[in-house]
Amino acid sequence: MRLIYPGSFDPPTKGHIHIARRAAALCGDLVVLVMRNPGKPLRLETEQRAALLERCLVGTPGIRVECGSGLLADEVRRLKGQAILRGLRDQGDYAAEKRVADAFRAVFDIETLFMQCDASLSHISSSLVRELLGLKGPAQALVPEEIFDDVWKAYCPEGQLKGELR
Ligand code: ADP
Repeated sequence: MRLIYPGSFDPPTKGHIHIARRAAALCGDLVVLVMRNPGKPLRLETEQRAALLERCLVGTPGIRVECGSGLLADEVRRLKGQAILRGLRDQGDYAAEKRVADAFRAVFDIETLFMQCDASLSHISSSLVRELLGLKGPAQALVPEEIFDDVWKAYCPEGQLKGELR
């Protein structure tokens, strides 16, 4: 079954990667879809966020990374996805995701599957990473090691100049 795992991935975190690997192991065919989001000012271009994800997921069978824009329903059809995958951390995620999933089924006849996140990663969010790095705080434990330097440069003020603060 082909599942589409959409998100902003701004930046990718250990939580995203864990969900993507577990889902691909189950369904055998996962497309991680990095969405352009005109409503959100994003630090990195869609292609840059996709390249970071690719580096974390290289060599994982059954996964590829794509970029998308516009209506998610159109992208799911273009990619021939059979359902959308979303990760759930807590009841707050569930409440928000349930409403969206109900709408996707009612309006577009597209199913959404949820995967519960690992308890050890439930505190991780892209917004926490951005907040920490924006204040030059420690975010190493939240971001996959292989992309941390690039994430740090992109999201930490003056990150490119003050590598030693890491
Ligand atoms: P969006 O911008 O669409 O809200 P994100 O890029 O923040 O999406 O996240 C993409 C998906 O990954 C969502 O389904 C989200 O719930 C899930 N996710 C985010 N953080 C974690 C985490 N720590 N563990 C598991 N799933 C997560």
